Amino acid sequence: MTKQTYERPFIQKLNTGTMNKFGTRTEYTPVTQIDGVPVKKIIEEYGSPCFVISEKTIRKTYKDALRAFKTRYPKVQFAWSYKTNYLNSVCNIFHQEGSWAEVVSIFEYEKALNNGVPGNKIIFNGPEKSRADLQKAVENESLIHIDHFDELYELTDLMKNIDKKARVAIRVNMDTGVYPIWDRFGFNYENGQAWNAINKIMSQEKLDLVGLHCHIGTYMLSANAYSIAAWKLCDLASHIRNKWSKTLQYIDLGGGFCSANTLKGSYLQGADIIPTMDDYAEAITSTVLNFGFKANELPTIILETGRALIDDAGWLLGSVVATKRLSDGRRATILDFGVNLLFTSFWYNHKISPAQEFSFHSEEMVLYGPLCMNIDVIRENISLPLLNKNDHVVVHRVGAYNMTQWMQFIHMRPKIVLIDMEGKTHVVREHETFETMNRYEKNPAHLKEFSI
Ligand SMILES: *Cc1c(COP(=O)(O)O)cnc(C)c1O
Repeated sequence: MTKQTYERPFIQKLNTGTMNKFGTRTEYTPVTQIDGVPVKKIIEEYGSPCFVISEKTIRKTYKDALRAFKTRYPKVQFAWSYKTNYLNSVCNIFHQEGSWAEVVSIFEYEKALNNGVPGNKIIFNGPEKSRADLQKAVENESLIHIDHFDELYELTDLMKNIDKKARVAIRVNMDTGVYPIWDRFGFNYENGQAWNAINKIMSQEKLDLVGLHCHIGTYMLSANAYSIAAWKLCDLASHIRNKWSKTLQYIDLGGGFCSANTLKGSYLQGADIIPTMDDYAEAITSTVLNFGFKANELPTIILETGRALIDDAGWLLGSVVATKRLSDGRRATILDFGVNLLFTSFWYNHKISPAQEFSFHSEEMVLYGPLCMNIDVIRENISLPLLNKNDHVVVHRVGAYNMTQWMQFIHMRPKIVLIDMEGKTHVVREHETFETMNRYEKNPAHLKEFSI
């Protein structure tokens, strides 16, 4: 029998708060390892806090998603959404699995090129593409998804000087029964704007309309919304076929599938209510298959899935800085990471596990980050086993958006470690240092010295 760990004595105020049918407790087992690598060892070697990415989980999640679509439809292509996580190592895992790149800025575009993605397998989305950006995309034969009329006119004008055709699609926004409609991007379906844009493109010799695109929202709890979106894109495609005798190569349904994170305010756990990848795949593929395309004119279905493919593969490891009591008696725990690193804690109640053995006692507590700022709250209310200074915690499902939206504020950003298929660890992004931050500053000569 192993010796039981010491636990500090505690006095607990009884709370008659809301519980679900399982009571208030959520943590039953500690998370002591990730893909066979001890959490303690990762922290010793790479510091705390530290992001961890599992190559195994990425590849498995991707393969499962691809299978859900490929078993239902013959022509499917994923394009990795760079903004969701644009670490080169992460992007290249997706590219090794066969994914194209989906980018929304020239910075991301250059990242994709630099990673070795062929120009014609980069989808260039987003509302802000300069004339020079468009020119580069045309020269590389990338897929330009036009967002608004000003972009269309800019591109049309630019093409006068280029001895080549531009491969384009338009982004379409539409009513899918989920509100608010994301109508700030693209051309509207219902009011005829999309059809107008299509006709303008079709009448331009240098513009080759190859597909149609939409991205109806993010964390979409309705699979049926995708069925409506797919139908509306198919409808436009068939009108193009009838009027212009042109067969489109693809329809792109964008991203937006849920990850298993739990939204704030949700009564049930995310994992229990989100549609499965099969639900999304069934909604999209059956709509396109049943629409009435001739067998040889079936469009490729492109998917730009972001969060659903990467969230599960990321963890944030951290440590307890202190525990204290608030004036109203509540327990507060201060951690060494906050909203600076965990941007998604603004809308998710992230699952957080202790990384060491614990007993059956648990406490209601607030989890704070280390920032000297009142909004730095990781969880407003969570029931966790007793935590002590220097204990470690593991935050689950942080692979999407945190490593791109994190901010350098008060503290510098930590290391990111990848665990490969063999369980070996690699630093895939170094931690920032004082030198990193100072490199970009320029101090005018008259501000170099002072005496106080
Ligand atoms: C952000 C984005 C995605 C990925 O969205 P998820 O909700 O993470 O799946 C895909 N396409 C476009 C155009 C985007 O802006």
